[in-house]
Amino acid sequence: MGSILVIAEIQKGKVREASYELVSFARKIGAATNREVKSLVMGQGISAAAEELSKKGGGEVFAADDAALANYNLDAAFAAVKAAIAAASPDVVLVSNTPSGWDLAPRIAASLDAGFAPDCFNVDVEGGELVFLRRFFNGKLDSRLRPTSLPVVATMQPGATAAFDGAAEGKMTPLAVSIGSLGTKFVETKVASAKGVDLTKADVIVSGGRSLGGPEKFQEVIKPLADALGGAMGASRPVVDAGWLPHEYQVGSSGQVVSPKLYVACGISGAIQHLVGMKASNFIIAINKDADAPIFEVADLGVVGDLFEVVPKLTEAVKAAKG
Ligand SMILES: Cc1cc2nc3c(=O)[nH]c(=O)nc-3n(C[C@H](O)[C@H](O)[C@H](O)COP(=O)(O)OP(=O)(O)OC[C@H]3O[C@@H](n4cnc5c(N)ncnc54)[C@H](O)[C@@H]3O)c2cc1C
Repeated sequence: MGSILVIAEIQKGKVREASYELVSFARKIGAATNREVKSLVMGQGISAAAEELSKKGGGEVFAADDAALANYNLDAAFAAVKAAIAAASPDVVLVSNTPSGWDLAPRIAASLDAGFAPDCFNVDVEGGELVFLRRFFNGKLDSRLRPTSLPVVATMQPGATAAFDGAAEGKMTPLAVSIGSLGTKFVETKVASAKGVDLTKADVIVSGGRSLGGPEKFQEVIKPLADALGGAMGASRPVVDAGWLPHEYQVGSSGQVVSPKLYVACGISGAIQHLVGMKASNFIIAINKDADAPIFEVADLGVVGDLFEVVPKLTEAVKAAKG
């Protein structure tokens, strides 16, 4: 039996939360199939981050520290992964479903002649075999991918599970990497500017989902409540994908992670990718006409009803209470 290799990512000098989530998945299937969990941390000056991962995530953590790894570069990263694979002999490789993961994971799979399970939200063990779960059609269907042979490489969605934070004792092993000539060079990182709205600083956020049906409804229904509460508007991803609001309004795993004093979710189902962006809010009100919507599981106060009736009444009540 091989090991499980987690390809960790570094952000601002620390191991990303998404990588600790990979460790959660790895430890779950490792315990069920008797595989050791190993990780790779790559970058420049990353030994403290790798040490922290070994203490918090456990297992052997390979630290590939090289100036060529300071910024993500496919050729350099792949050289580090190759060295880690030689050292860890994994038959399962877990990568985050992030832009660099999308770039790196297929190359790892091709080099290992491995099966590839992209964009998964969970992995299970059934009868000793791995099963990767993946969503289709906006979460309406789940598919179950059962590798017919090993090794297998999978990318896991950030936010699909909790980051591992149990007590663990691992060890950090420096990993020598031979990085040859690079086919591409890093030019610069451009951080998108939050044009006028910074949801991470808002005390109150009133968010709307796909059910609003169009951009004008945000102005007619969501904005008045946000204004009455002195807060900002937010949105679920389909709203942004449809172009009803710009990306800086998106709350969730591929948008903003927010923790306001009050979060009002209007017509939002509560998909895991949305929940990870707002469940740390101090008080959550959910308005949804489906009493079984998952958003109610994290809500402090739930209203089962039509948002087009409830939200305007709430807006009037807030205005009246404020005099
Ligand atoms: C890799 C990846 C990253 C993602 N990142 C994000 C992310 O950052 N943020 C995010 O939000 N999603 C993200 N998603 C998408 C996520 O999986 C869901 O598809 C999305 O959150 C659903 O948005 P929604 O709740 O607005 O729409 P739906 O799931 O369609 O839900 C609409 C809800 O509105 C309710 N409703 C309908 N009409 C009314 C009415 N008149 N009154 C009251 N309730 C009503 C329905 O009962 C339903 O619960 C991501 C998905 C993937 C695969």
